[in-house]
Amino acid sequence: MNEYKIAVIKGDGIGPEIVDSALRVLDRVQDKFGFRVNYEVFPAGGCAIDKYGMPLPDETLEGCRASDAVLLGAVGGPKWDSIEPSLRPERALLGLRSGLGLYANLRPAIMFEELKDASPVKNIDKMDIMMVRELTGGIYFGDSDSYSCNDILPDGTPKVRIAYDTESYSEGEIRRITDLAFRIARGRSRHLTLVDKANVLTSSRLWREIAEDVHDDYRDVSLDFLYVDNCSMQLISRPGDFDTIVTSNMFGDILSDEAGQITGSVGMLPSASLGKTGTPGMYEPIHGSAPDIAGTGKANPLATILSVAMMLRWQFGENEAADAVEEAVRKALAGGYRTSDISRGNAGEIPVDTNGMTDAVIAGL
Ligand code: NAD
Repeated sequence: MNEYKIAVIKGDGIGPEIVDSALRVLDRVQDKFGFRVNYEVFPAGGCAIDKYGMPLPDETLEGCRASDAVLLGAVGGPKWDSIEPSLRPERALLGLRSGLGLYANLRPAIMFEELKDASPVKNIDKMDIMMVRELTGGIYFGDSDSYSCNDILPDGTPKVRIAYDTESYSEGEIRRITDLAFRIARGRSRHLTLVDKANVLTSSRLWREIAEDVHDDYRDVSLDFLYVDNCSMQLISRPGDFDTIVTSNMFGDILSDEAGQITGSVGMLPSASLGKTGTPGMYEPIHGSAPDIAGTGKANPLATILSVAMMLRWQFGENEAADAVEEAVRKALAGGYRTSDISRGNAGEIPVDTNGMTDAVIAGL
């Protein structure tokens, strides 16, 4: 029997509720498909600050490194908003990403047939996009500073202060993420779009050059290029035409939220962050800790349950089990089960809380 070990970080706000739901589904699916997942719970985020005075205790990072995968709920909340930035709960995420070498963020944006009317975009036939975002380079990690300045602009306006951030990518960083994106596209409908700003940015032109080079190893996958401003429009007007998108850290941050919103609710969207083959990836919903609904039973657990499906597929290769979880989610939606974030008050809807939705998914398994 295959055995896997996962590190579980429940975090703050709705984190513990949605992770408990996902673990219930994981328990059911491992029984059904005959593998075993052992897990250990570690603190991170605001709850770790309260207990240990730091958002990511060493023991948590070590526990994650020693596991096959990490399942994370969400961290943060108003209680810790006034803490010094380097000690905020969200620092735990950056620490986990860099500590585990997670350079790729995969965010599927899938429109469920049953939730079409929850989308802000009308008349979408289909949408099934895999967004591959570079996660550890680019402008969020580049050289940055701010300083006072006595210069004046050509029209006489004083500059007063200057602040800058640097977008910088190495060939190695681009090569590993584009290679992964081609592999992903090959397992889907064999079409990859590189989104950049090559008409303006030197770094984007390097992305194009390297992507074309890597393309030589994936001639069965078609490759095209789109400027980021154009892509943000096309995502709204023809989301069904995209398959796999690969892009830089900042563009991916923005576009994946846009693509996610088209699907209806942040409560539906899973993600995977991956590093080198054979190292633990991190699986989490894209949403935050939703402190406004924590403890009310209103949290939609589906994004976290679908993150478990991604873990089963991408980390463990348990593809049948992953398919079964995704199918069970579809069945729950088709059965009319709706948490309040995805309810439209339509006839046939069955309003449920976090546990009710989890029960519906487990019944579908
Ligand atoms: P959020 O995603 O937590 O919430 C935005 C809105 O979506 C809220 O109205 C919330 O109720 C709703 N929502 C989110 N998840 C939901 C779910 N599963 N079911 C139903 N409704 C859901 O974003 P925010 O309010 O900007 O952030 C709250 C906290 O979370 C902040 O401290 C922020 O820094 C943190 N955060 C953490 C992560 C993470 O841990 N990966 C990501 C984003 C934000």
